[in-house]
Amino acid sequence: PPPTQARVLELLQEGRVNFLRLQFTDILGTIKNIEVPRSQFEKALSGGVMFDGSSIQGFTRIEESDMLLAPDLSTFLIYPQFSREEGERGKVARIICDVNLPSGEPFPGDPRFVLKRQIARAAEAGLTLYAGTEPEFFLFERGEDGRGTTRTGDHAGYFDLAPLDKGERLRREIANKLVEMGFEIEGAHHEAAPGQHEIDFRYQDALAAADAISTFKFVVKRVALEYGLLASFLPKPVAGVNGSGLHVHLSLFRDGHNTFHDPAGEFELSETALHFIGGLLEHSPGICALTNPTVNSFKRLVPGFEAPVNVAWSTSNRSALVRVPAKRGNSTRAEFRLPDPSCNPYLALAVMLAAGLDGIEQKTVPPPAIQRNIYQMTVREKRHHRVRELPRDLYDALDSLERDEVISAALGNHALEHYLRAKRAEWRNYAAVVHPWEIEQYLDLV
Ligand code: GLN
Ligand code: MG
Ligand code: MG
Ligand code: MG
Repeated sequence: PPPTQARVLELLQEGRVNFLRLQFTDILGTIKNIEVPRSQFEKALSGGVMFDGSSIQGFTRIEESDMLLAPDLSTFLIYPQFSREEGERGKVARIICDVNLPSGEPFPGDPRFVLKRQIARAAEAGLTLYAGTEPEFFLFERGEDGRGTTRTGDHAGYFDLAPLDKGERLRREIANKLVEMGFEIEGAHHEAAPGQHEIDFRYQDALAAADAISTFKFVVKRVALEYGLLASFLPKPVAGVNGSGLHVHLSLFRDGHNTFHDPAGEFELSETALHFIGGLLEHSPGICALTNPTVNSFKRLVPGFEAPVNVAWSTSNRSALVRVPAKRGNSTRAEFRLPDPSCNPYLALAVMLAAGLDGIEQKTVPPPAIQRNIYQMTVREKRHHRVRELPRDLYDALDSLERDEVISAALGNHALEHYLRAKRAEWRNYAAVVHPWEIEQYLDLV
């Protein structure tokens, strides 16, 4: 059970906390916070802090610009010390907040509320979604001017065993900080590309998983800064090597039992699991607009880099969109390999859950599992096996989102409208820029 207000106040006193951050995210997943000093702790904990939402991305609606931050006391934690100077100024704690209208009703544009609504829908059917996430990221050097570069200073990750490599030390430091903050980390390792790393979270309920990812990104960046490096969650910062994904292992529990397992089913998967996978596959083009939300996201989704390109599932192959890892029993799960870490984790989990629940309700049967490397299949073979392609770019993905009634409904009108508007503007900006590749390719050719 979450601690009471009085208990959190006590913890703030005992922990010598000077500032409390009231944390939430905008529609794009950017972490936002309002920091309050001691004198405001009581007011903050009782949900009395108001802010002007009109300049927050996706919150804009002049007529409802005053919003209240309602703290979710179960998310209270005291930040570890990130730097020496910081320590001298006293400790900082944070609480994740829901965003409410002045009437006390939830604000429909709050991504956390969008996820909670799907969680409630699952709960009506007696189901709880669990999610285990595997965020990947790059550590880059900063230039003389302090700005980020795409240099890694990590020349391989293959032959550089590098016990003294900055990246290795930093990754361990990040994992330590996360453990200190109470997160359950299952492992941390170097990924395939130079300078690329991964930290794996133990599975937890969907809301906690989304809260963890948004906090995680902040912590990684903060610790990297301390080491003079830049941590980037850009899905494809360097062409020609693996990009960064955010694989999500999904399972649905009922009364403490994993509904995905059925010893008698094919692959020991239950009908529920198959329908859930069916829903994920069917809605993946629309989902993509949330799980892969940047122009750059689609440069990761190309053949040859362990990222999905086609709509297919498999019990073995890592080129598939959904892979079912070998573990069974209560560990039976579907690994959704589409998302990348530039997504808003609340919206991403909300639409994954909505798609899976729709699959269960509609009894969607997925196409047969594909066990071979899909990158190597011909167009004819793909057609034969009912393997569709994912959207090619953000423009396509946004259209797929708008056409998908299930995914659109999961966002709700307010979030959908603002999301499409912000993302289409982003696309238009990109489309109007002349990129270096075009100059290189065409300048003296045409
Ligand atoms: N980096 C790959 C991706 O883009 C995943 C690699 C892996 O974890 N096997 O999804
Ligand atoms: Mg992994
Ligand atoms: Mg990985
Ligand atoms: Mg994985």
